[in-house]
Amino acid sequence: MNRSKAFKLEPVIGLEVHIELATNSKMFCLCPADHFAKPPNSQVCPTCLGLPGSLPVPNKKAIEWTILVGLALNCKIERFSKFDRKHYFYPDLPKGYQISQYDQPLCSNGLFQLSGSGKKVRIRRIHLEEDTGKMIHTIVKGERVSLLDFNRSGVPLVEIVTEPDFKSSQEAKLFLIQIQRLVRWLGISDGDMEKGSMRLEANVSLSSNGEIPAYKVEIKNINSFKFVEKAIDYEIERQKKIIEGGGELRQETRGFNEKTGITLSQRVKEEAKDYRYFPEPDIPPLVFGEREIEEIRSKLPQLPWQIENLFRDTFRLSIQYSQFLASSKKLADYFIKAVKVASQYNIPPKTVADEIVNKKPDIEKISEQLLVSRIRKRGEKVLISDSRLENIVKKVIFENAKAVNDYRKGKVSAIQYLVGQVVKLSGGKADVRKTHKMLLERLK
Ligand code: ZN
Ligand code: MN
Repeated sequence: MNRSKAFKLEPVIGLEVHIELATNSKMFCLCPADHFAKPPNSQVCPTCLGLPGSLPVPNKKAIEWTILVGLALNCKIERFSKFDRKHYFYPDLPKGYQISQYDQPLCSNGLFQLSGSGKKVRIRRIHLEEDTGKMIHTIVKGERVSLLDFNRSGVPLVEIVTEPDFKSSQEAKLFLIQIQRLVRWLGISDGDMEKGSMRLEANVSLSSNGEIPAYKVEIKNINSFKFVEKAIDYEIERQKKIIEGGGELRQETRGFNEKTGITLSQRVKEEAKDYRYFPEPDIPPLVFGEREIEEIRSKLPQLPWQIENLFRDTFRLSIQYSQFLASSKKLADYFIKAVKVASQYNIPPKTVADEIVNKKPDIEKISEQLLVSRIRKRGEKVLISDSRLENIVKKVIFENAKAVNDYRKGKVSAIQYLVGQVVKLSGGKADVRKTHKMLLERLK
């Protein structure tokens, strides 16, 4: 008998997303934070090497940016927060502890509605910490060795922790894509998963009664968007088989292997108490007043989902168009400016959107003015003459007595139908604005 028929197992998924901030300097020292592809150990100092006697000085910009993310995700910004030491041993962590935030993170209790879906995700907390160094396993002179590169050690890292609100790997992926868009939009990180600027851990368990299970399995090493769904789906299936076979699941950390597509146990999950957290004695607590938080809030631009709504509601674009044009701030800004230029020539936003979506111009090279002049040139070529338009308008009025009557009786929207008929008859070559005007004049 198949036990899965007896009760339905529902995935319960929570995410922890780490994002490297693109600040100039590291979190607690003045070494450059941009470590990508730099010669090993070329950007280090006593502080980020964890040498005795060095003192950490927090990066103000990193703190502000963390709060910025918190505000964008509707979090409560804590008036009082602090850094803590999180102890564990690993060669890439020279101090023997990571400076992180434990019980008083900068931001908590947020809520994020995924755009393009009704899904709401609760944000448990957002905190700031330092990145670790990197271990490189390689062969030197025929010998297998592990090398250490501390360029990444001490780079500011924002960690966003969600509540276990995802029910599928697709939802989790959608969230990640939108978090990536957000951090790029805010200009605080390149959010590149392949480069490791954005890293993901997924907590996966299965529930048979709608409640949060007593265990969770943490999946690490999901290093690209391609594997987000794969890793989570694999883990859901693995757990399902165990439960259906009458087995029990335990709290553990598993690593995803991109080559084999499976997860393997790394260690039985440690608990918070294993880390021996205590307040970082070298950094005073962070205290924020209302005014300081409001000042950071004033730096928030219009957010991607607000811009999507603008495109949909004010510019009357489809959801697909709105999502595409708001996929990056650069593209959205370009489109908004092009719409402004186009409006001087009575070219509607939709026409500008069509041009961008279908022709995909290189927005780095083609100015908004040039784009609009291209639209105009094309328009001049294809539009039919006024006299020909006049004839079609007459014909449409003659053949659509009902719509004409409706309009005259006060049903204003009937005019749209007539415009549509003219455009159709003209084979799409009628100027919509002119058609509208001609119809109005004739129906007066
Ligand atoms: Zn340093
Ligand atoms: Mn972390």
